[in-house]
Amino acid sequence: MTHDIYPKQTRREALLVHGVVQGVGFRPFVYRLALEEALAGFIGNDTDGVTIEVEGTGEHIEAFLRRLRTEAPPLARIDSIAVRVLAATGEAGFRIVASGVLGRVSTGIPADAATCPDCLRELLDPQDRRYLYPFLNCTNCGPRFTITWRIPYDRPQTSMARFKMCAACQAEYDDPVNRRFHAQPNACWQCGPRIWLAGADGAEIAEDDPVIAAIHRLVAGEILAIKGLGGFHLCVDATSEAAVMRLRQRKHRYGKPLAVMVKDVEAARALCVLTMEEEALLTTSARPIVLARKRDTSGIAAGVAPGIPWLGVFLPYAPLQHLLFADERVWALVMTSANLSEEPIAIDNDEARARLGAIADAFLMHDREILQRCDDSVAVVVDGNPQLVRRARGFVPLGVELHLDAPMMLAVGGHLKNVFALARGRRVYQSQHLGDLENLTGLEFFRESLDHLMRTFEIEPETVAHDLHPGYLSTSWAKEWAEERGLRLIAVQHHHAHIAGCMAEHGLEGPVIGLSLDGTGYGTDGRIWGGEVLIARLDEFERFAHLEYAPMPGGEAAIREPWRMALGHLSAAGFDLGSNSLLSLLGVKEQEARVLRRMMERGVNTPLTSSCGRLFDAVVAVVLGRGRVDYEAQAAIELEGLAVDEPDEPGYWMEFKTADWAAREPVRICAEPLWRELMDDLQSGVSKARIAARFHGGVADAFVRAAVLAQKATGIKQVALSGGCMHNRRLARLLRRGLEAEGFVVFQHAHVSPGDGGLSYGQVAVAAAMLKMPKLPGEAH
Ligand SMILES: [Zn+2]
Ligand SMILES: [Zn+2]
Repeated sequence: MTHDIYPKQTRREALLVHGVVQGVGFRPFVYRLALEEALAGFIGNDTDGVTIEVEGTGEHIEAFLRRLRTEAPPLARIDSIAVRVLAATGEAGFRIVASGVLGRVSTGIPADAATCPDCLRELLDPQDRRYLYPFLNCTNCGPRFTITWRIPYDRPQTSMARFKMCAACQAEYDDPVNRRFHAQPNACWQCGPRIWLAGADGAEIAEDDPVIAAIHRLVAGEILAIKGLGGFHLCVDATSEAAVMRLRQRKHRYGKPLAVMVKDVEAARALCVLTMEEEALLTTSARPIVLARKRDTSGIAAGVAPGIPWLGVFLPYAPLQHLLFADERVWALVMTSANLSEEPIAIDNDEARARLGAIADAFLMHDREILQRCDDSVAVVVDGNPQLVRRARGFVPLGVELHLDAPMMLAVGGHLKNVFALARGRRVYQSQHLGDLENLTGLEFFRESLDHLMRTFEIEPETVAHDLHPGYLSTSWAKEWAEERGLRLIAVQHHHAHIAGCMAEHGLEGPVIGLSLDGTGYGTDGRIWGGEVLIARLDEFERFAHLEYAPMPGGEAAIREPWRMALGHLSAAGFDLGSNSLLSLLGVKEQEARVLRRMMERGVNTPLTSSCGRLFDAVVAVVLGRGRVDYEAQAAIELEGLAVDEPDEPGYWMEFKTADWAAREPVRICAEPLWRELMDDLQSGVSKARIAARFHGGVADAFVRAAVLAQKATGIKQVALSGGCMHNRRLARLLRRGLEAEGFVVFQHAHVSPGDGGLSYGQVAVAAAMLKMPKLPGEAH
C-alpha cells in the first residue's frame, strides 16, 4: 500500500441535493452514511432541497456520493446534485443542522406512503411496544399530504399537533440514527391517536378491541365506514353477494365497479391474472388500485364488477388495513370511497356521521384528523406501460416536470374528473382528483384544495388557463377569479390540451400529429369534438381530420342514454329509423324514436359531435342493447371487455371525405360503411365479441390511415396519443402497433392521465408556450 506513506489529502465539498428529500428520512440516512465513510460536516434542509457539506479523503467523498444515489431511502427521489469544492476547515464530527438555519424551507410536502416492511413487522410483533397499534409509521412510511395543513412539513403544521409525544416517542424523534428521527406523525399507544367503533348513529360502542369487533361485523355481512388516510371507505366482505348488493342499494350506485383490497400480492394473484408490471404497480408505496384481468375462480361476488372482465384490486397501505387482514377470516374487502355518486369523499367524523349514517351499519373512527381529502389512485397497464387513470393518494402533491419555464400559473382543468394544476418554473403540481365540477360541493372542494396547494407551494398565479367551453363551471369560476385579481386569462381548446400534455411529458415542442380521442370537448367551431387528428405545436394547432359529425339528440341526455346516440349515428349513416327490427334491437319504443327523429330533423336540442366516445356508446347500444349507462365511459369499457379474448380482426371500414387540406379543410372520417358492415354481421349471427373486436380494429385503422394522410401533407413523423379513449387497452395497443408499422414514432402519457384528469397539465403547457410568444393568439379579451 504505497499511498499509505503519504498523508491523505483532505477535501471539503458542498452538495446541493434537489428532489424529494425532505420528510422522507433523508437527513438520518445522510448522517449514517457520513459516519460510515468517516466524513465530517453537516446536513440541513434548504429552500428547495438539502445542503450537505462533507470533509474527508477524496476516496471517501467519492464513495459517499455514489452511495447517496444508490442507497437513498425508499421515498426519496434525487433529481440532481450540484457539487462545489470548498476549503477544508478541519471540522470534526458530522451534525444535523436544525430546519430554518439554512433558509426558508419550501420544498413542500411528500406524498402519503404505504406502511413500510419494518413498521409492518413491528405492528405484528407481540414484543414490540407498538404491537397492533393502528397508527404506527416512520420516516419511510405513513401519512404526509393528507395530514398537513401548511408548510413547512413539521409536526405543528399537521393534524398530529394536538398529540404530545411520550418520552419514548420523543427520544426516537430526536435520535439521528433512529428510523423515526423527525418522523412528524410519530406516535404510539401511549401518546398517539386512538381508534373506536361507533354505531350507525355515530355513538361510540365500548369494545375492548374495536378492530376485532369491526372484523366480526364485516364477516357477518355488515357495511362499515372506515376512516382511512385520505377519507372514509365504505367496506364490505367482497365474497358476499348479499353484502355487496346491500352496499350498492344504499349507495344508489349500481353498475360502477367497486375496488377490492386483499392482503398481499399472493392473494391478488388468486383474484387476477397479473403481469410483472401490474405486480410492480400494486406494490409501489403509492399503492394504487390496479385494474387487472379477473379470474373466473376468484371467489369475488359477481356484483363487485358486473359485466366486465377486470377487477380493481389493491393492497393495504395503512396499518389499520393490515390489522383487518391479519384475521384469517378476512380475505377480500370491497373498499370504496365513502361518498354519494360524484360528491367529494367524506373526511371529517361529523361529516361522515351525517352523510354516511344511512349507508353504514357501523363506523371505525379515529381522532387523527384528515386535512386533505384524497381518493385512492387508479392505474392500469397499457401495452406494458403503467398509465394513471386517477392520480390521487400516493402521487399528490409530487410535481411533474415541464421542459419549458412557466410563470406562476393556475390551470383549472375541465368539467368531469376535475384536477387543477399549479405551475412555477419547470414544475407542475397537479391537485388530487376532485371529481365532477358540477355543483357547489364540488366547487367548494376545488377551492379548499386550491387554497391548500397555493399555500403549500407558495404559488400566487399571474396567469389562469381554462377550457374553451363557456358553459363549464371551471371556466366561469376561472374568469371571475382572474378578473377579481387582475390576472391574465388564457383559454385552451380541450383536445389541444390533451395532446400538449402528452408532448410536454416527452419534452416535445412539435409539430406532431396528435390523435385526441375522447368523450366530449368544446371545439373552436362551437361543436362537440372528440375524435380529432390535430397538427399540433404546444402553442397552436390545426384540425387535420375528425370523425364526421353525428347528431346527439337530447344533448347531455345522450351521454347517459346511449340508445339516443345509436339513433343519432344510424340516422347519419342513412338507416331507416322507423324500422321495427332496428327499434327492437335497441329496445326503443316507436313513440320515443319518433320524438327523437323529430328533434333531429328540426335540430332541437341536438348538438353535433365528432366524439369517439359517443361512437363507442352508439355501438354498445346496438350490440349489447344497452339503453342506459350508470357511470361515465361504461359503454366503452363494456365493449372492450366483450372483445378481451378475441384475436385482432380485420376492422370495419371507415371512409374519408373531402380531403382538401391545402384549403385547410379537415378530412372527415365517416362511419357509414362501418355501420353497414356491423349491422350485416349482427344480422348474420357473427358473435358479439367478434363484432366488438372488428369495431376496435376499424377505429384504430381509420386513425392510423388519417395519420398517414397527415404525414403526407406535412412530413411529420411523430404521433402523440391522448384523450380518455386511450384508457382502452385494445384501442391504444392497435393504434400504437399500426402507427409503428407505418414508421411513426409514437408518444403516450406516462405520469399524467390521458383522460380529463390530465387536462390541466396540458393547459399549463399550452399557456406557458403561448406566453413565450410576442403575441397571444388564444388570450381572452
Ligand atoms: Zn415505516
Ligand atoms: Zn408515544
